[in-house]
Amino acid sequence: MAVDVQQVADRGLFIGGDVVEGTESRPVRNPADGSLVAHYAVATPADVDRAVADAHDRGRVWTDMHPDERARILLRGAAAIREHVDEIAHVLTLEQGKPIPDSVKEILFGAAVFEYYAEEGRRVHGTLRPNASADTMSMISYHPVGVVAGIVPWNYPVDLYAWKVAPALAAGCPVVVKPPEEAPLAIGMVTALLIDAGLPPGALADLPGGANVGQRLAAHPDVAVITATCSTATGKAIMRTAAEHLTRVSLELGGHCPFVVLPDADVASAARAAARRSFSNMGQICIAVNRVVVHEEVADEFVAALRAEVAGYVLGDPSEPGVGYGPCTTAQVVEKARAHIADAVDRGARLVIGGREPDGFAAGHYFLPTVLDHVPADALVMTEETFGPVLAVHRVGTIAEAVAVANATDYGLAAYVYGEDLGQALAVAEQIEAGGVGVNVNDVSELQAPFGGWKQSGLGRELGPEGLHAYLETKHTKVRRPVVVAGR
Ligand code: NAD
Repeated sequence: MAVDVQQVADRGLFIGGDVVEGTESRPVRNPADGSLVAHYAVATPADVDRAVADAHDRGRVWTDMHPDERARILLRGAAAIREHVDEIAHVLTLEQGKPIPDSVKEILFGAAVFEYYAEEGRRVHGTLRPNASADTMSMISYHPVGVVAGIVPWNYPVDLYAWKVAPALAAGCPVVVKPPEEAPLAIGMVTALLIDAGLPPGALADLPGGANVGQRLAAHPDVAVITATCSTATGKAIMRTAAEHLTRVSLELGGHCPFVVLPDADVASAARAAARRSFSNMGQICIAVNRVVVHEEVADEFVAALRAEVAGYVLGDPSEPGVGYGPCTTAQVVEKARAHIADAVDRGARLVIGGREPDGFAAGHYFLPTVLDHVPADALVMTEETFGPVLAVHRVGTIAEAVAVANATDYGLAAYVYGEDLGQALAVAEQIEAGGVGVNVNDVSELQAPFGGWKQSGLGRELGPEGLHAYLETKHTKVRRPVVVAGR
Protein backbone atom coordinates (compact mmCIF):
# COMPACT_ATOMS: atom_id res chain seq x y z
CA MET A 1 0.00 0.00 0.00
CA ALA A 2 1.62 3.24 -1.12
CA VAL A 3 0.98 5.50 1.85
CA ASP A 4 3.67 7.74 3.24
CA VAL A 5 2.61 7.53 6.86
CA GLN A 6 5.00 10.25 8.02
CA GLN A 7 3.44 12.56 5.45
CA VAL A 8 0.04 11.78 7.00
CA ALA A 9 1.39 12.52 10.48
CA ASP A 10 3.16 15.67 9.32
CA ARG A 11 -0.17 17.25 8.54
CA GLY A 12 0.00 18.53 12.11
CA LEU A 13 -2.98 19.88 13.98
CA PHE A 14 -6.11 21.10 12.22
CA ILE A 15 -7.39 24.34 13.68
CA GLY A 16 -9.95 26.38 11.80
CA GLY A 17 -9.39 24.47 8.58
CA ASP A 18 -5.68 25.31 8.64
CA VAL A 19 -2.87 22.94 9.32
CA VAL A 20 -0.89 24.20 12.30
CA GLU A 21 2.46 22.88 13.42
CA GLY A 22 2.47 21.57 16.97
CA THR A 23 5.05 22.64 19.53
CA GLU A 24 5.84 19.02 20.36
CA SER A 25 5.74 15.74 18.50
CA ARG A 26 5.44 12.19 19.79
CA PRO A 27 5.95 8.76 18.24
CA VAL A 28 3.21 6.29 17.34
CA ARG A 29 4.54 2.73 17.57
CA ASN A 30 3.24 -0.33 15.77
CA PRO A 31 1.80 -2.68 18.42
CA ALA A 32 2.76 -5.66 16.24
CA ASP A 33 6.51 -5.12 16.52
CA GLY A 34 7.24 -1.88 18.36
CA SER A 35 8.57 -0.18 15.22
CA LEU A 36 8.06 3.54 14.67
CA VAL A 37 4.99 4.28 12.54
CA ALA A 38 5.35 8.08 12.53
CA HIS A 39 5.73 11.13 14.73
CA TYR A 40 2.61 13.25 15.09
CA ALA A 41 2.01 16.76 16.43
CA VAL A 42 0.61 16.88 19.97
CA ALA A 43 -1.85 19.58 20.99
CA THR A 44 -1.55 21.66 24.15
CA PRO A 45 -4.22 23.32 26.30
CA ALA A 46 -3.33 26.59 24.50
CA ASP A 47 -4.22 24.92 21.18
CA VAL A 48 -7.57 23.97 22.71
CA ASP A 49 -8.24 27.61 23.54
CA ARG A 50 -7.42 28.67 19.98
CA ALA A 51 -9.51 25.93 18.40
CA VAL A 52 -12.55 26.53 20.62
CA ALA A 53 -12.38 30.31 20.00
CA ASP A 54 -12.19 29.67 16.28
CA ALA A 55 -15.07 27.17 16.37
CA HIS A 56 -17.10 29.66 18.37
CA ASP A 57 -16.44 32.56 15.97
CA ARG A 58 -15.78 31.33 12.43
CA GLY A 59 -17.73 28.12 13.09
CA ARG A 60 -20.94 30.16 12.85
CA VAL A 61 -20.68 29.91 9.07
CA TRP A 62 -21.32 26.19 9.41
CA THR A 63 -24.18 26.70 11.86
CA ASP A 64 -25.83 29.26 9.57
CA MET A 65 -25.44 27.16 6.43
CA HIS A 66 -28.60 25.59 5.01
CA PRO A 67 -28.94 21.95 6.15
CA ASP A 68 -29.10 20.80 2.52
CA GLU A 69 -25.72 22.37 1.82
CA ARG A 70 -24.29 20.85 5.00
CA ALA A 71 -25.60 17.47 3.82
CA ARG A 72 -23.91 17.84 0.43
CA ILE A 73 -20.55 18.50 2.09
CA LEU A 74 -20.91 15.58 4.52
CA LEU A 75 -21.89 13.24 1.66
CA ARG A 76 -18.83 14.36 -0.31
CA GLY A 77 -16.73 13.65 2.78
CA ALA A 78 -18.26 10.17 3.14
CA ALA A 79 -17.57 9.42 -0.55
CA ALA A 80 -13.94 10.47 -0.09
CA ILE A 81 -13.60 8.18 2.96
CA ARG A 82 -14.96 5.28 0.89
CA GLU A 83 -12.61 6.10 -1.97
CA HIS A 84 -9.57 6.10 0.35
CA VAL A 85 -10.62 3.21 2.56
CA ASP A 86 -7.60 1.04 1.75
CA GLU A 87 -5.04 3.74 2.57
CA ILE A 88 -6.81 4.66 5.81
CA ALA A 89 -7.13 0.98 6.77
CA HIS A 90 -3.41 0.46 6.23
CA VAL A 91 -2.62 3.29 8.65
CA LEU A 92 -5.27 2.26 11.18
CA THR A 93 -3.85 -1.27 11.31
CA LEU A 94 -0.29 0.02 11.73
CA GLU A 95 -1.22 2.23 14.68
CA GLN A 96 -3.97 0.19 16.37
CA GLY A 97 -3.19 -3.45 15.54
CA LYS A 98 -6.50 -4.78 14.23
CA PRO A 99 -6.34 -6.93 11.06
CA ILE A 100 -6.84 -5.12 7.74
CA PRO A 101 -10.35 -6.53 7.06
CA ASP A 102 -11.48 -5.29 10.48
CA SER A 103 -9.99 -1.84 9.76
CA VAL A 104 -11.79 -1.73 6.40
CA LYS A 105 -15.08 -2.69 8.09
CA GLU A 106 -14.61 0.01 10.74
CA ILE A 107 -13.88 2.74 8.18
CA LEU A 108 -16.80 1.78 5.92
CA PHE A 109 -19.14 1.87 8.90
CA GLY A 110 -17.73 5.33 9.70
CA ALA A 111 -18.55 6.44 6.13
CA ALA A 112 -22.08 5.03 6.50
CA VAL A 113 -22.50 7.04 9.71
CA PHE A 114 -21.62 10.25 7.84
CA GLU A 115 -24.09 9.36 5.07
CA TYR A 116 -26.87 8.60 7.55
CA TYR A 117 -26.46 11.83 9.53
CA ALA A 118 -26.06 13.93 6.38
CA GLU A 119 -29.66 12.91 5.65
CA GLU A 120 -30.92 13.03 9.26
CA GLY A 121 -29.61 16.59 9.55
CA ARG A 122 -32.02 17.65 6.78
CA ARG A 123 -35.00 16.38 8.75
CA VAL A 124 -34.75 18.35 11.98
CA HIS A 125 -38.25 19.70 12.24
CA GLY A 126 -40.39 20.92 15.11
CA THR A 127 -44.01 20.47 16.17
CA LEU A 128 -47.06 22.48 17.19
CA ARG A 129 -48.59 21.40 20.51
CA PRO A 130 -52.16 21.84 21.72
CA ASN A 131 -52.43 24.46 24.48
CA ALA A 132 -54.63 24.76 27.55
CA SER A 133 -55.97 28.10 26.33
CA ALA A 134 -57.29 28.53 22.80
CA ASP A 135 -55.69 31.94 22.27
CA THR A 136 -52.11 30.72 22.55
CA MET A 137 -50.11 28.24 20.56
CA SER A 138 -46.87 26.42 21.33
CA MET A 139 -44.17 25.91 18.74
CA ILE A 140 -41.41 23.42 19.57
CA SER A 141 -38.20 23.77 17.60
CA TYR A 142 -34.67 22.37 17.72
CA HIS A 143 -31.39 24.30 17.39
CA PRO A 144 -27.67 23.51 17.20
CA VAL A 145 -26.36 23.49 20.75
CA GLY A 146 -23.02 25.23 20.04
CA VAL A 147 -19.42 24.08 20.01
CA VAL A 148 -19.07 20.33 20.57
CA ALA A 149 -15.91 18.75 21.99
CA GLY A 150 -15.31 15.07 21.21
CA ILE A 151 -12.94 12.77 23.10
CA VAL A 152 -12.23 9.60 21.16
CA PRO A 153 -10.55 6.38 22.41
CA TRP A 154 -8.03 4.18 20.58
CA ASN A 155 -9.96 0.94 20.21
CA TYR A 156 -12.25 2.02 17.32
CA PRO A 157 -10.85 5.47 16.59
CA VAL A 158 -12.43 6.02 13.16
CA ASP A 159 -15.85 4.62 14.05
CA LEU A 160 -16.17 6.41 17.36
CA TYR A 161 -14.95 9.63 15.76
CA ALA A 162 -17.74 9.27 13.17
CA TRP A 163 -20.37 8.51 15.85
CA LYS A 164 -19.63 11.92 17.38
CA VAL A 165 -18.48 14.16 14.54
CA ALA A 166 -21.10 13.16 11.95
CA PRO A 167 -24.22 13.91 14.05
CA ALA A 168 -22.70 17.01 15.64
CA LEU A 169 -21.79 18.50 12.26
CA ALA A 170 -25.13 17.43 10.79
CA ALA A 171 -26.89 19.24 13.64
CA GLY A 172 -24.99 22.41 12.66
CA CYS A 173 -22.44 22.39 15.48
CA PRO A 174 -18.72 23.15 15.02
CA VAL A 175 -16.65 20.31 16.48
CA VAL A 176 -13.26 20.16 18.19
CA VAL A 177 -11.96 16.60 18.45
CA LYS A 178 -9.29 15.12 20.67
CA PRO A 179 -8.11 11.88 19.07
CA PRO A 180 -6.25 9.40 21.27
CA GLU A 181 -2.48 9.57 21.56
CA GLU A 182 -2.17 5.86 20.77
CA ALA A 183 -3.97 6.11 17.41
CA PRO A 184 -4.24 9.66 16.01
CA LEU A 185 -3.21 9.01 12.39
CA ALA A 186 -6.25 7.44 10.68
CA ILE A 187 -8.44 10.09 12.30
CA GLY A 188 -6.12 12.75 10.85
CA MET A 189 -6.64 11.29 7.39
CA VAL A 190 -10.43 11.30 7.77
CA THR A 191 -10.36 14.87 9.08
CA ALA A 192 -8.30 15.99 6.07
CA LEU A 193 -10.81 14.38 3.70
CA LEU A 194 -13.76 16.06 5.42
CA ILE A 195 -12.06 19.45 5.28
CA ASP A 196 -11.21 18.92 1.60
CA ALA A 197 -14.88 18.05 1.01
CA GLY A 198 -15.74 21.67 1.79
CA LEU A 199 -16.12 22.20 5.53
CA PRO A 200 -15.68 25.92 6.15
CA PRO A 201 -12.98 27.24 8.55
CA GLY A 202 -13.93 26.73 12.17
CA ALA A 203 -16.25 23.78 11.52
CA LEU A 204 -13.84 20.99 12.49
CA ALA A 205 -10.62 20.92 14.53
CA ASP A 206 -8.38 17.94 15.23
CA LEU A 207 -6.17 18.10 18.33
CA PRO A 208 -4.49 14.80 19.22
CA GLY A 209 -3.23 14.76 22.76
CA GLY A 210 -3.43 13.41 26.25
CA ALA A 211 -5.61 13.85 29.31
CA ASN A 212 -4.53 17.51 29.76
CA VAL A 213 -6.05 18.37 26.37
CA GLY A 214 -9.25 16.50 27.25
CA GLN A 215 -9.42 18.26 30.61
CA ARG A 216 -9.10 21.68 28.99
CA LEU A 217 -11.92 20.84 26.57
CA ALA A 218 -14.18 19.69 29.41
CA ALA A 219 -13.37 22.84 31.41
CA HIS A 220 -13.78 25.32 28.55
CA PRO A 221 -16.67 27.76 29.09
CA ASP A 222 -17.40 27.98 25.34
CA VAL A 223 -17.85 24.25 24.85
CA ALA A 224 -21.57 23.46 24.89
CA VAL A 225 -21.42 19.65 24.84
CA ILE A 226 -18.61 17.32 25.71
CA THR A 227 -19.06 13.90 24.17
CA ALA A 228 -16.56 11.30 25.32
CA THR A 229 -16.02 7.60 24.83
CA CYS A 230 -13.74 6.50 27.63
CA SER A 231 -13.49 4.47 30.80
CA THR A 232 -16.05 5.00 33.56
CA ALA A 233 -13.38 6.60 35.79
CA THR A 234 -12.52 9.16 33.08
CA GLY A 235 -16.22 9.75 32.41
CA LYS A 236 -16.73 10.67 36.07
CA ALA A 237 -13.72 13.02 35.96
CA ILE A 238 -15.10 14.71 32.82
CA MET A 239 -18.52 15.09 34.43
CA ARG A 240 -17.01 16.71 37.51
CA THR A 241 -15.06 19.17 35.34
CA ALA A 242 -18.05 19.88 33.10
CA ALA A 243 -20.20 20.69 36.13
CA GLU A 244 -18.38 24.02 36.55
CA HIS A 245 -20.09 25.54 33.49
CA LEU A 246 -22.98 23.07 33.39
CA THR A 247 -21.59 21.82 30.09
CA ARG A 248 -23.80 19.07 28.69
CA VAL A 249 -22.22 15.62 28.67
CA SER A 250 -22.75 12.58 26.50
CA LEU A 251 -20.72 9.69 27.89
CA GLU A 252 -20.11 6.24 26.41
CA LEU A 253 -18.23 4.43 29.14
CA GLY A 254 -16.99 1.01 30.15
CA GLY A 255 -18.94 -2.21 29.98
CA HIS A 256 -18.93 -5.68 31.51
CA CYS A 257 -21.12 -7.61 29.16
CA PRO A 258 -22.74 -10.95 30.03
CA PHE A 259 -23.50 -13.61 27.42
CA VAL A 260 -26.31 -15.80 28.75
CA VAL A 261 -26.55 -19.32 27.33
CA LEU A 262 -29.96 -20.87 28.04
CA PRO A 263 -30.42 -24.66 28.23
CA ASP A 264 -32.08 -24.77 24.78
CA ALA A 265 -29.41 -22.69 22.99
CA ASP A 266 -27.84 -23.82 19.74
CA VAL A 267 -24.57 -24.46 21.54
CA ALA A 268 -22.28 -24.51 18.51
CA SER A 269 -23.52 -21.20 17.15
CA ALA A 270 -23.61 -19.61 20.62
CA ALA A 271 -19.99 -20.63 21.25
CA ARG A 272 -18.87 -19.21 17.90
CA ALA A 273 -20.74 -15.95 18.56
CA ALA A 274 -19.42 -15.59 22.12
CA ALA A 275 -15.83 -16.21 21.05
CA ARG A 276 -15.97 -13.69 18.22
CA ARG A 277 -17.59 -11.00 20.37
CA SER A 278 -15.07 -11.64 23.10
CA PHE A 279 -11.84 -11.73 21.05
CA SER A 280 -12.55 -9.49 18.07
CA ASN A 281 -10.09 -6.57 18.28
CA MET A 282 -8.44 -8.64 21.05
CA GLY A 283 -11.30 -7.91 23.43
CA GLN A 284 -10.65 -4.18 23.30
CA ILE A 285 -14.32 -3.38 22.78
CA CYS A 286 -16.71 -1.85 25.24
CA ILE A 287 -19.38 -4.36 24.15
CA ALA A 288 -17.00 -7.35 24.26
CA VAL A 289 -18.33 -10.42 26.04
CA ASN A 290 -16.58 -10.43 29.41
CA ARG A 291 -18.61 -13.14 31.11
CA VAL A 292 -20.43 -16.17 29.74
CA VAL A 293 -23.23 -17.14 32.10
CA VAL A 294 -24.09 -20.66 31.02
CA HIS A 295 -26.74 -23.09 32.27
CA GLU A 296 -25.03 -26.16 33.72
CA GLU A 297 -27.09 -28.49 31.48
CA VAL A 298 -25.11 -27.32 28.44
CA ALA A 299 -21.97 -25.95 30.10
CA ASP A 300 -19.55 -28.81 29.27
CA GLU A 301 -20.66 -28.91 25.63
CA PHE A 302 -20.45 -25.10 25.41
CA VAL A 303 -16.94 -24.87 26.89
CA ALA A 304 -15.68 -27.65 24.57
CA ALA A 305 -17.11 -25.80 21.55
CA LEU A 306 -15.60 -22.52 22.75
CA ARG A 307 -12.19 -24.15 23.13
CA ALA A 308 -12.34 -25.67 19.64
CA GLU A 309 -13.38 -22.34 18.15
CA VAL A 310 -10.59 -20.35 19.81
CA ALA A 311 -8.00 -23.03 19.00
CA GLY A 312 -8.71 -22.38 15.32
CA TYR A 313 -7.96 -18.66 15.48
CA VAL A 314 -5.08 -17.39 13.34
CA LEU A 315 -2.95 -14.89 15.26
CA GLY A 316 -0.31 -12.87 13.44
CA ASP A 317 0.84 -9.62 11.91
CA PRO A 318 -2.44 -7.76 11.32
CA SER A 319 -1.12 -6.26 8.07
CA GLU A 320 -0.74 -9.76 6.58
CA PRO A 321 -3.61 -11.44 4.70
CA GLY A 322 -5.43 -14.32 6.39
CA VAL A 323 -4.73 -13.10 9.94
CA GLY A 324 -7.85 -12.96 12.10
CA TYR A 325 -6.35 -11.65 15.34
CA GLY A 326 -3.44 -9.25 15.89
CA PRO A 327 -1.64 -7.84 18.92
CA CYS A 328 -3.25 -5.90 21.73
CA THR A 329 -2.81 -2.16 21.19
CA THR A 330 -0.79 -1.43 24.33
CA ALA A 331 1.38 -3.23 26.87
CA GLN A 332 -1.08 -2.19 29.62
CA VAL A 333 -3.80 -4.33 28.01
CA VAL A 334 -1.56 -7.40 28.21
CA GLU A 335 -0.63 -6.61 31.82
CA LYS A 336 -4.28 -6.31 32.87
CA ALA A 337 -5.20 -9.55 31.07
CA ARG A 338 -2.40 -11.37 32.92
CA ALA A 339 -3.50 -9.93 36.27
CA HIS A 340 -7.14 -10.96 35.72
CA ILE A 341 -6.13 -14.48 34.69
CA ALA A 342 -3.82 -14.92 37.70
CA ASP A 343 -6.50 -13.66 40.08
CA ALA A 344 -9.18 -15.98 38.63
CA VAL A 345 -6.89 -19.03 38.74
CA ASP A 346 -5.95 -18.20 42.35
CA ARG A 347 -9.63 -18.24 43.20
CA GLY A 348 -10.16 -21.67 41.66
CA ALA A 349 -10.93 -20.99 37.98
CA ARG A 350 -9.68 -23.48 35.38
CA LEU A 351 -7.65 -22.31 32.40
CA VAL A 352 -9.26 -23.77 29.26
CA ILE A 353 -7.03 -22.24 26.59
CA GLY A 354 -4.50 -19.41 26.25
CA GLY A 355 -3.21 -17.65 29.36
CA ARG A 356 0.18 -16.70 27.94
CA GLU A 357 2.02 -15.02 25.08
CA PRO A 358 1.94 -17.01 21.84
CA ASP A 359 5.12 -18.72 20.64
CA GLY A 360 7.07 -17.27 17.76
CA PHE A 361 6.59 -13.54 18.32
CA ALA A 362 9.81 -11.79 19.31
CA ALA A 363 8.17 -8.40 19.78
CA GLY A 364 4.75 -6.78 19.93
CA HIS A 365 1.89 -6.87 22.43
CA TYR A 366 0.69 -10.36 21.55
CA PHE A 367 -1.34 -12.45 23.96
CA LEU A 368 -3.34 -15.61 23.34
CA PRO A 369 -7.13 -15.35 23.51
CA THR A 370 -7.86 -16.88 26.90
CA VAL A 371 -10.89 -18.80 28.20
CA LEU A 372 -11.37 -19.50 31.91
CA ASP A 373 -14.02 -21.91 33.22
CA HIS A 374 -15.62 -22.31 36.67
CA VAL A 375 -14.82 -18.67 37.41
CA PRO A 376 -16.23 -17.65 40.81
CA ALA A 377 -18.42 -14.54 41.04
CA ASP A 378 -15.87 -12.67 43.16
CA ALA A 379 -12.99 -12.95 40.65
CA LEU A 380 -11.81 -9.59 39.26
CA VAL A 381 -12.59 -10.72 35.72
CA MET A 382 -16.26 -11.09 36.74
CA THR A 383 -16.58 -7.53 37.99
CA GLU A 384 -13.86 -5.33 36.42
CA GLU A 385 -13.63 -4.64 32.71
CA THR A 386 -10.51 -6.43 31.36
CA PHE A 387 -10.66 -4.66 27.98
CA GLY A 388 -8.43 -7.43 26.69
CA PRO A 389 -8.53 -11.03 25.37
CA VAL A 390 -9.96 -12.82 28.41
CA LEU A 391 -13.32 -14.57 28.63
CA ALA A 392 -14.70 -15.90 31.92
CA VAL A 393 -17.24 -18.73 31.99
CA HIS A 394 -19.51 -18.90 35.03
CA ARG A 395 -21.92 -21.83 35.43
CA VAL A 396 -25.43 -21.44 36.87
CA GLY A 397 -28.16 -23.91 37.87
CA THR A 398 -31.27 -21.93 36.90
CA ILE A 399 -32.36 -19.23 34.48
CA ALA A 400 -33.26 -16.94 37.39
CA GLU A 401 -29.70 -17.29 38.67
CA ALA A 402 -28.39 -16.45 35.18
CA VAL A 403 -30.35 -13.18 35.20
CA ALA A 404 -29.14 -12.32 38.70
CA VAL A 405 -25.49 -12.94 37.75
CA ALA A 406 -25.88 -10.98 34.49
CA ASN A 407 -27.17 -7.97 36.43
CA ALA A 408 -24.69 -8.20 39.31
CA THR A 409 -22.50 -5.36 38.05
CA ASP A 410 -22.39 -1.58 38.09
CA TYR A 411 -22.12 -1.63 34.30
CA GLY A 412 -25.05 -1.87 31.90
CA LEU A 413 -23.83 -1.39 28.35
CA ALA A 414 -24.63 -4.55 26.40
CA ALA A 415 -25.72 -8.14 27.02
CA TYR A 416 -26.41 -11.18 24.87
CA VAL A 417 -28.95 -13.97 25.31
CA TYR A 418 -28.88 -17.21 23.34
CA GLY A 419 -31.80 -19.66 23.35
CA GLU A 420 -33.96 -21.35 20.70
CA ASP A 421 -37.30 -20.61 22.42
CA LEU A 422 -37.57 -16.98 21.37
CA GLY A 423 -40.32 -16.25 23.91
CA GLN A 424 -38.12 -17.39 26.76
CA ALA A 425 -35.01 -15.64 25.40
CA LEU A 426 -36.98 -12.39 25.08
CA ALA A 427 -38.32 -12.75 28.63
CA VAL A 428 -34.73 -13.02 29.86
CA ALA A 429 -33.64 -10.07 27.67
CA GLU A 430 -36.41 -7.98 29.22
CA GLN A 431 -35.01 -8.56 32.71
CA ILE A 432 -31.46 -7.60 31.83
CA GLU A 433 -30.28 -4.14 32.85
CA ALA A 434 -28.41 -2.94 29.77
CA GLY A 435 -28.74 -0.31 27.05
CA GLY A 436 -28.45 -2.95 24.33
CA VAL A 437 -29.39 -6.63 24.38
CA GLY A 438 -28.63 -9.02 21.52
CA VAL A 439 -30.99 -12.01 21.32
CA ASN A 440 -29.30 -14.74 19.27
CA VAL A 441 -27.06 -12.05 17.79
CA ASN A 442 -23.66 -10.95 19.08
CA ASP A 443 -23.64 -7.26 18.20
CA VAL A 444 -25.80 -4.40 19.46
CA SER A 445 -24.36 -1.57 17.38
CA GLU A 446 -26.75 -0.67 14.59
CA LEU A 447 -26.72 2.55 12.58
CA GLN A 448 -30.39 3.38 13.14
CA ALA A 449 -30.68 2.23 16.77
CA PRO A 450 -29.61 4.12 19.90
CA PHE A 451 -26.36 2.88 21.47
CA GLY A 452 -25.45 3.62 25.07
CA GLY A 453 -25.31 2.41 28.62
CA TRP A 454 -27.44 2.01 31.69
CA LYS A 455 -26.03 2.40 35.19
CA GLN A 456 -22.31 3.37 35.17
CA SER A 457 -21.86 2.60 31.48
CA GLY A 458 -22.83 6.08 30.43
CA LEU A 459 -25.24 8.91 29.84
CA GLY A 460 -26.98 9.67 26.55
CA ARG A 461 -27.09 7.76 23.29
CA GLU A 462 -25.18 7.66 20.01
CA LEU A 463 -26.40 6.46 16.59
CA GLY A 464 -30.01 6.61 15.40
CA PRO A 465 -32.05 9.80 15.67
CA GLU A 466 -31.09 10.01 19.37
CA GLY A 467 -27.46 10.48 18.30
CA LEU A 468 -28.42 13.68 16.49
CA HIS A 469 -30.62 15.02 19.28
CA ALA A 470 -27.62 14.98 21.64
CA TYR A 471 -26.46 18.10 19.73
CA LEU A 472 -29.76 19.98 19.56
CA GLU A 473 -31.33 22.33 22.10
CA THR A 474 -35.10 22.42 22.41
CA LYS A 475 -37.00 25.69 22.28
CA HIS A 476 -40.65 26.25 23.19
CA THR A 477 -42.06 29.45 21.65
CA LYS A 478 -45.49 30.30 23.06
CA VAL A 479 -47.48 32.81 20.99
CA ARG A 480 -50.67 34.63 21.82
CA ARG A 481 -52.82 34.81 18.71
CA PRO A 482 -56.28 36.18 17.99
CA VAL A 483 -59.02 33.61 18.16
CA VAL A 484 -60.84 33.77 14.83
CA VAL A 485 -64.59 34.26 15.26
CA ALA A 486 -66.65 32.57 12.62
CA GLY A 487 -68.98 34.66 10.41
CA ARG A 488 -67.07 37.96 10.51
P1 NAD B 1 -9.46 6.27 29.06
O1 NAD B 1 -10.59 6.61 29.94
O2 NAD B 1 -8.16 5.94 29.69
O3 NAD B 1 -9.14 7.49 28.09
C1 NAD B 1 -10.07 7.92 27.11
C2 NAD B 1 -9.68 9.29 26.62
O4 NAD B 1 -9.96 10.23 27.63
C3 NAD B 1 -8.21 9.44 26.27
O5 NAD B 1 -8.14 10.06 24.99
C4 NAD B 1 -7.65 10.34 27.37
O6 NAD B 1 -6.65 11.20 26.88
C5 NAD B 1 -8.87 11.14 27.80
N1 NAD B 1 -8.85 11.55 29.19
C6 NAD B 1 -8.28 10.93 30.25
N2 NAD B 1 -8.52 11.61 31.40
C7 NAD B 1 -9.26 12.68 31.05
C8 NAD B 1 -9.87 13.74 31.79
N3 NAD B 1 -9.73 13.83 33.12
N4 NAD B 1 -10.60 14.67 31.13
C9 NAD B 1 -10.76 14.59 29.79
N5 NAD B 1 -10.21 13.61 29.03
C10 NAD B 1 -9.47 12.66 29.66
O7 NAD B 1 -9.97 5.10 28.14
P2 NAD B 1 -9.19 4.29 27.02
O8 NAD B 1 -8.29 3.32 27.69
O9 NAD B 1 -8.59 5.20 26.01
O10 NAD B 1 -10.42 3.55 26.32
C11 NAD B 1 -10.94 2.40 26.84
C12 NAD B 1 -12.20 2.66 27.65
O11 NAD B 1 -13.20 3.26 26.81
C13 NAD B 1 -12.82 1.38 28.15
O12 NAD B 1 -13.28 1.54 29.47
C14 NAD B 1 -13.98 1.15 27.22
O13 NAD B 1 -15.02 0.37 27.71
C15 NAD B 1 -14.41 2.53 26.92
N6 NAD B 1 -15.17 2.52 25.67
C16 NAD B 1 -16.51 2.72 25.73
C17 NAD B 1 -17.26 2.66 24.58
C18 NAD B 1 -18.74 2.91 24.59
O14 NAD B 1 -19.29 3.18 23.54
N7 NAD B 1 -19.41 2.82 25.73
C19 NAD B 1 -16.63 2.40 23.36
C20 NAD B 1 -15.26 2.18 23.34
C21 NAD B 1 -14.53 2.26 24.51
